[in-house]
Amino acid sequence: MTRREEILREMGLTPIWRMRRRSGFTIQRSGVTVQESENTLNPVAHSWVELKSKVTACTVCRLHSGRTQTVFGVGDEHASWLFIGEGPGAEEDRRGEPFVGQAGKLLDNMLAAIDLKRGRDVYIANAVKCRPPGNRNPEKDEMAACRPFLDRQIELISPRLIVLLGRIAVQALLNTEVALARLRGRVHDYRGIPVVVTYHPAYLLRNLPDKAKAWADLCFARKTMQGLQVRG
Ligand code: SF4
Repeated sequence: MTRREEILREMGLTPIWRMRRRSGFTIQRSGVTVQESENTLNPVAHSWVELKSKVTACTVCRLHSGRTQTVFGVGDEHASWLFIGEGPGAEEDRRGEPFVGQAGKLLDNMLAAIDLKRGRDVYIANAVKCRPPGNRNPEKDEMAACRPFLDRQIELISPRLIVLLGRIAVQALLNTEVALARLRGRVHDYRGIPVVVTYHPAYLLRNLPDKAKAWADLCFARKTMQGLQVRG
């Protein structure tokens, strides 16, 4: 049994991997064509309620020991837009909601800049559901351990577009070590869902000049979404 299978088993998320065909579309940007993935989870295997309860009870990785509570995610559970950050900070751990505090305010402003609002056709989640101690970055094995929860969350939401906030979210979802700066301005793929990347709001609070780049990324995300809507 592989490590991934062990993790899925410990989480009670097996045996649920199945192949099924989604209604397909093809993403084309910058001359690169990405075909949809056929790997999806059985949609009846774990409902939102079951998934939330599994996350709440999860002790699969070491992060469970320092948490006040798990931080599952927040927003419209059928949103077109999914924003993914890295993991809960101290305030999120205390309140049980992602992106609260200063970084959360900035994210809300970023959303407003492209006519979006938390909870209205927008869902916000993190790569890991428990707070890494001392606000350190999540380790790779912790992200891998939490990934099946994120995968299932994405499948339940079935967003039209995913926006990754920061390097850690990029590593967690796209499995790449390529610098975020080199991934901006392009459409990436997660199981047939288009993905764009930008900076994490907490990073932007420390690096104000990069806010202009984040604005360009958001405009690109909005344009990408408009293209998807035209395609239907
Ligand atoms: Fe479980 Fe994810 Fe929390 Fe680790 S971070 S204990 S995998 S819910």
